[in-house]
Amino acid sequence: MNLQRSAQPVLGGWRLGELGGVEIRIDFSLLLITFFVAFTLATQVFPRSVIGISPVAGWLAGGIGSLLLVVSILWHEMAHVLTAQYYKLPVSRVVLNILGGQAHLSREPERAEHELLIAAAGPFSSLLLAVFFRFLSFLPGLAGLTCDWLSTVNLTLAIFNMLPGFPLDGGRVLRAAVWGYMGSYRRATQIASRAGQVVAALIVLVALWMFTTRGAFLSAVLIGFMGLYLYRLSYVNYLLAGGGKPIISPSKMSVRRVMRFNVPILEPNLPLAMFVWRYLDFARDQAFPVMVNGTLVGMISLAEIVHIDRLEWGRVKVGDRMIPRVKLVLLGPEQDLQSALAALDHADLNHAPVYEGDSFVGMLNRRDIVYRT
Ligand SMILES: [Zn+2]
Repeated sequence: MNLQRSAQPVLGGWRLGELGGVEIRIDFSLLLITFFVAFTLATQVFPRSVIGISPVAGWLAGGIGSLLLVVSILWHEMAHVLTAQYYKLPVSRVVLNILGGQAHLSREPERAEHELLIAAAGPFSSLLLAVFFRFLSFLPGLAGLTCDWLSTVNLTLAIFNMLPGFPLDGGRVLRAAVWGYMGSYRRATQIASRAGQVVAALIVLVALWMFTTRGAFLSAVLIGFMGLYLYRLSYVNYLLAGGGKPIISPSKMSVRRVMRFNVPILEPNLPLAMFVWRYLDFARDQAFPVMVNGTLVGMISLAEIVHIDRLEWGRVKVGDRMIPRVKLVLLGPEQDLQSALAALDHADLNHAPVYEGDSFVGMLNRRDIVYRT
């Protein structure tokens, strides 16, 4: 029998629910860890500290502890989500997994400083949570012990995620720093992914050392598995960033090489609804020039209208929401991309019309520069 393919992509794990418009999923690997954590707390950690603890109390506290661990990971991911949303980057879902979790941004940041702050927000939030649980660890009995353990776990989460290997948070901070310094997004991704492979190899070595000399078999296997998982992720990212292929520096590439030609020209009195209906499904990351009788009066992209209530799209016109001509920078097709980026940065823009002499030839979008250099 022929089975019809599902149109939905296959997603690992189970859907937990939705938080602030973002789908939350939990990966099977984390469920295993949660059980392992509850088991370790109930049978080893608590009995060692509380004399004569009943198995029921131990498992109950262990269960609550491991549940709060999942909440801690969710807290960490939501810090990424909120920072991304602050920079108007949509987040489709959060997957909680063995490495902690992953917030899936529908679009990668276009600027190094945005990526840096989005990445750093996670470990920073874990650090805050570690301090919070440290205060609560003065509670008596099992509650205090659980909080003490949660404080250590959150501190570990913060430190582990700040290891400088892409795609860990620390690796993203590294990529953002290299990206900001060298100006090349692809080169920065390659360097940070290579660092990720080194970090992963070191984690595996630590696991081997724990396994052979410390006798911590279960933890060693767990850490070793995390190292292998990270290695695979960084290697895939290295290849995706065009690892091994030559990189062209933005200073050696002209605007003409990455700009878009044949961009539709809009009129200022076009209602937003018509604009979206005609063009935006085909060009989400693009801006369009707005002209009156061949004279440029502004520019508009999805970023200018996405926050307007859809019911208003029939009434509001392109001219009401466009970025006016006075705020725009015009570029030439032979200009190099480095100076073009500097001009965009200076004007705080993501797009610019390209003019050859007096005639409009196309648009340059920041995203196209980022992914081509
Ligand atoms: Zn994180």
